[in-house]
Amino acid sequence: MSLRFYNTLTQRLEEFKPLHDNVVRMYTCGPTVYNYAHIGNFRSFVFPDILRRWLRARGYQLDHVMNITDIEDKIIRDSKAAGKSIDEFTAVYTKAFLEDTATLRLERPERIVPATQHIPEMVEAVQQLTERGHTYVSDGSVYYRISTFPEYGKLSHNDFSGVRAGARVDVDEYDKDDARDFVLWKAAKEGEPAWDTPIGKGRPGWHIECSAMAMKYLGDTLDIHTGGVDLTFPHHENEIAQAEGITGKQFVRFWLHAEHLSVDSQKMSKSLGNIYTLRDLKERGFAPEALRYLLASVPYRKKLNFTFDGLKAATTSIERLRNYKLRLETDKFPAGMNEAFAERTRRASAVFDAALDDDLNTAEALAAVFDYVRGTNTAMDAGQFLAGNVPAALEFLTRFDSVFDVMRPSRISAAGSITQAASSFSGTAHAGGLSDAEVDELIAERATAKKVRNFGRSDEIRAQLASQGVILEDTKEGVRWKRS
Ligand SMILES: [Zn+2]
Repeated sequence: MSLRFYNTLTQRLEEFKPLHDNVVRMYTCGPTVYNYAHIGNFRSFVFPDILRRWLRARGYQLDHVMNITDIEDKIIRDSKAAGKSIDEFTAVYTKAFLEDTATLRLERPERIVPATQHIPEMVEAVQQLTERGHTYVSDGSVYYRISTFPEYGKLSHNDFSGVRAGARVDVDEYDKDDARDFVLWKAAKEGEPAWDTPIGKGRPGWHIECSAMAMKYLGDTLDIHTGGVDLTFPHHENEIAQAEGITGKQFVRFWLHAEHLSVDSQKMSKSLGNIYTLRDLKERGFAPEALRYLLASVPYRKKLNFTFDGLKAATTSIERLRNYKLRLETDKFPAGMNEAFAERTRRASAVFDAALDDDLNTAEALAAVFDYVRGTNTAMDAGQFLAGNVPAALEFLTRFDSVFDVMRPSRISAAGSITQAASSFSGTAHAGGLSDAEVDELIAERATAKKVRNFGRSDEIRAQLASQGVILEDTKEGVRWKRS
């Protein structure tokens, strides 16, 4: 079966191939940098990461652009409240966002583009829309007249034909019930940042940012555009009206939207105190890869209900996989090759591939991995798993991890900061025992286990290390170890 995605535009599952050669031109709506990103935001960024990795596994190259919205209504409001300049204010959250995404092992898109560095492109886009009769000016602001784009509503599948002509909306976010002519360029206001441009002094609306930057880097027609489902209307609907209003060509072939995340079955909200950032979870002792696993484990088009039990279960799942890998690498298996088992490995790998080809069905892909791991452990216990079966078993695990990327433990220092562990098991092996890198990884895993109160596992690791001649000493500064 071929690779296929559910396209919001056509409301169908469609076979995917890039338009030109082997390169997938893809755009992701990036963060608005006015606060730390929360786990709901990260769901919509983990999804394109899984997508990127699977596209590459399927032989494609990527040209992926993500914007940083660093000028926008909420930024202006909150930077004023914080008594900071816009640049100072957004620099803090841009840096935090990039750090968090690296901690979550999200691959960097080929290009990350800040809106404020593309004002001339946005102005030019507004001018082109004006030349084509899609705009009008009111009180110095430029608006998109949606009645000039009859296809308006085709992405969100809403009928806007009854919308009153000339009614306008100045804010960037609104509901579909409030659909009106939307603002492209906002006239300068007292106390707000503004650029002097040929279309007047002012600043861009949010929607024109993405159209202008996407087309600058990726051309008139993109293969894939991703975002959270809440961006479908008005943001993406407006992106289409702007881009197609200029070029007359299809703007995006595949629109892929990630569903919402709820916390304990409730909408995240300040009043409920259930908005969690990556920093909050680290403080509670969870490893970032546990969040990554949890966010990736539910297929992106299904609603995801975040709970701390779910995060603990993710931690346990990762541990099971790491233990299994350690067993593959360190146990002594009988010589030879079990052909029936080799066939089982091929089948599991094929099920894994087919699941991800099917609109990134990560739940089924993980089920294929865990079924296989269970079967392998049983076969190992029964002495049916032979030394010749090890390389293919490891290869399947590597393929899994090239997409899910959870096998490497993050190092949690005594101060609680997390750094990426060196790529797994790369250290030089000590005669008859574990390499230093392997010891460090197990110690990191034990620290995580203790933090999430999984004392069974932390004791198990201590015993495992002791059996390999590694003695641990818990100190105020963290764990020290030596070989006996
Ligand atoms: Zn966008």
